[in-house]
Amino acid sequence: MSIEKLSKILKESNNIVFFGGAGISTESGIPDFRSETGLYKTDSGQGYPPEIMLSHTFFMGHTKDFFKFYKEKMIYIDAKPNSAHLALAKLEEMGKLKAVVTQNIDGLHQVAGNKNVYELHGSVHRNYCTKCHGFYDLNFILESSDIPKCPKCSGTVKPDVVLYEEELDNDVINGAVNAIEHADALIIGGTSLAVYPAAGLVNYFKGKNLILINKSSTPYDSKADLVIHDSIGKVLSDAIKFAL
Ligand code: ZN
Repeated sequence: MSIEKLSKILKESNNIVFFGGAGISTESGIPDFRSETGLYKTDSGQGYPPEIMLSHTFFMGHTKDFFKFYKEKMIYIDAKPNSAHLALAKLEEMGKLKAVVTQNIDGLHQVAGNKNVYELHGSVHRNYCTKCHGFYDLNFILESSDIPKCPKCSGTVKPDVVLYEEELDNDVINGAVNAIEHADALIIGGTSLAVYPAAGLVNYFKGKNLILINKSSTPYDSKADLVIHDSIGKVLSDAIKFAL
């Protein structure tokens, strides 16, 4: 029944925005590290939780350990888009989905074919020299031993990923807010909506249908017009079949 209801909403909506988090990419084999509490041991034998390893302070003060952790735990070079990414790309192709707002840094929405993606936390595929701002791709980071250094000016190359203690990019936030404000349907999936800025962004939605697709319940379940507790990939691909 809920799939039929979702299909009906997809059919009658023409300005859909999707807002997603780590739960979208877990089916591609990328774990949700920000929510894990486990300690990571550095070469010096010190143990740190991921929130410390992925902080600006740690990047500045323990750059070598930062990159070791980053390359081992944050990069999934073989990950492929799953049925959730592909369903969203299909919805964009149909002209219904206008934007994807994501907390993920893996770039899988673009690999699937989505063009208008607001990456709130940045992307592992973009890296910049902290001195001359030269651009480097993910391979450059993976191929460098220890600390990636700019060949032009020997500055440290930093992933364009928002670390703890760092501000989100204003243009990305504004683009996401604008897309959500103008949407007639907002589909939220694979996020618990517990952390900033997820919860705040949802409040900009003024459209007709708020849809939540998540395996577990969220603080927004009671505000949604439709709540489906199931696999996002399965739900979206089934709903699209009926909406065609
Ligand atoms: Zn440089």
